[in-house]
Amino acid sequence: MATRPPRTTFAPPERRRRSRAAELAHCSRLLRGTLSVRNQTCGKESCRCARGEPHVSLYLVQSHNGKPRQLYVPKEWEERVRRAVKDYQELQTLVEELSEREWRRLTHREEEARS
Ligand SMILES: [Zn+2]
Repeated sequence: MATRPPRTTFAPPERRRRSRAAELAHCSRLLRGTLSVRNQTCGKESCRCARGEPHVSLYLVQSHNGKPRQLYVPKEWEERVRRAVKDYQELQTLVEELSEREWRRLTHREEEARS
């Protein structure tokens, strides 16, 4: 019977990061971008916005193939979009931390992933 190489084991802090990253990747809507709240006037003279109460709208802004683009976020989707943006950022941070650890392991020529 062929022997398998031992599975890579990670120290607990890294295991936690990986497990959280897997959870986000499996269960979350993920959305890259920045939310931007805009105060706008519609141009109608009789509207409240003309008297200093602007319409507040939410937009998602992201860079796509090097160009900025934006999406209007209706009020009823705000919570869903905010969560997707937050989850994306958390996952991105986790992946970056994992990459950083691997960078350091290579720098120190560590074969094991236990540090
Ligand atoms: Zn208005």
